[in-house]
Amino acid sequence: MRTVTHWIDGAAYDGRSTRAAPIWNPATGAQQAEVRLATVEDVDVAVRAAESAYASWSQTSLSARSKVLFAFREIMNRRAGELAEMITDEHGKVLSDAAGEVQRGLEVVEFACGIPTLLKGGFSDQVSGGVDAYSYRESLGVCAGITPFNFPAMVPMWMFPVAIACGNTFILKPSERDPSVAVLMAEMWAEAGLPAGVFNVVHGDKEAVDALLDHPGVAAVSFVGSTPIARYVHERGIGAGKRVQALGGAKNHAIVLPDADMEFASHHLASAAFGSAGERCMAISAAIAVGSAGDELLPHVQEQATAVKVGPGRDPASEMGPIVTAEARDRIVGFIERGSAQGADLVVDGRDLVVPGHADGFFVGPTLIDRVTTEMDVYTNEIFGPVLSVLRADTVDDAIDLINANPYGNGTAVFTNSGGAARRFVRGVKVGMIGINVPVPVPMAYYSFGGWKDSLFGEHHIHGPEGVAFYTRGKAVTVRWPEAGTPSGASMDMPTAT
Ligand code: NAD
Repeated sequence: MRTVTHWIDGAAYDGRSTRAAPIWNPATGAQQAEVRLATVEDVDVAVRAAESAYASWSQTSLSARSKVLFAFREIMNRRAGELAEMITDEHGKVLSDAAGEVQRGLEVVEFACGIPTLLKGGFSDQVSGGVDAYSYRESLGVCAGITPFNFPAMVPMWMFPVAIACGNTFILKPSERDPSVAVLMAEMWAEAGLPAGVFNVVHGDKEAVDALLDHPGVAAVSFVGSTPIARYVHERGIGAGKRVQALGGAKNHAIVLPDADMEFASHHLASAAFGSAGERCMAISAAIAVGSAGDELLPHVQEQATAVKVGPGRDPASEMGPIVTAEARDRIVGFIERGSAQGADLVVDGRDLVVPGHADGFFVGPTLIDRVTTEMDVYTNEIFGPVLSVLRADTVDDAIDLINANPYGNGTAVFTNSGGAARRFVRGVKVGMIGINVPVPVPMAYYSFGGWKDSLFGEHHIHGPEGVAFYTRGKAVTVRWPEAGTPSGASMDMPTAT
């Protein structure tokens, strides 16, 4: 059985314990490998390597740093297919979707290649007589990233290209469910010429996460995962004096107005709800049909849900793959059962789906549940599976109120042909990322990604300009070079400009 090990100080590292977790092949249901789980001592080895590398990496010139990023970009571009196959084999998503994930991650690398421009400071000449002022930003030190299973390449790439470009060193603690991609990316960094210890990978579970949060050598933590763990990571990390950004879970609503093109809306709703088997933090899991839209929309969505081709991710004919683990599949099935028991209308039921030749794979088919109300378990929980709930609202304002009453605020979308209604929606919702006739509005790399309310703890969104701000801190410098013989002008009063 293949064993996935840590990567510390530029080389594979076995760790001091043989504690391990299984890595499944979700399409077959068989275990394909195991991953080592780090101890507190293993994390300490990684932090020391990253601290030692920081001394020189933080002093490396901007152009030398950006050259390494350009080289990494070229290598990753060349080996993108390898990464995508690895994602499909451990996560389960279809190959074309995995390739899309790699591409969106690469765009953050491309953003970070421009780090010399992004780190340009400000200068003011002659702020007072013979005095100039300037400000710039410096790196923080050792930064850690703790990431979820659903985007094993893209979510880490929301973090480390920017952190490393800014002059920090980095320790990635990827999900233990699909950890191999992290090690392949570490090998690519080494090939790109990144000095040993600047990028490290520590595999593990709560023990490794707690060790990173408590370690005095870690300056900042970026987390992406479920809301309860995001809240916990934020509180514990802040308590230990670190800078923390913790992105949590989601319940993303799309509202459909009666004036929308129902054919267009149903295609996009189905792809947003069932793409990647609904295991996306920006998946649409609740559609709110406003006024008369519901009765017109539903048959279209039903048709789309029934037409999705579900199968192993490696099969080019598959549009949707399996769920990541049997446990996650059983949890999703449980929610569908409860939705039906609590009185919702099960229009398309994915529970009984059997994929020929893959009877033991962790599959659930696309599921469409109508007449869902806000007290039902299918609505109050993030299901994180291919389940679309349909709710009804009388007006746009009722739909906005419904969205705002939900504790999450990650993404949302409106389908309409009315600019006025769309503007009212954008201004009214308490949500961080909004799409107008775009159901998965993931911001481009040069904007920042982040939700509101229980979808993000901390002040900074991730990547883009806010990522640069998160991984740096400011210095403001006031300078005087007095010429010989200039009277000092010093006084005991608060200095003011002259
Ligand atoms: P998760 O919260 O179970 O795990 C995320 C990370 O936390 C993993 O590295 C895991 O090892 C670690 N972890 C798990 N339990 C822990 C504990 N008790 N203490 C400390 N660390 C722990 O999330 P997941 O199931 O891997 O991913 C799915 C979740 O991530 C969904 O809720 C999804 O919405 C969310 N997500 C959010 C975003 C976003 O941008 N907001 C993006 C992707 C995924």
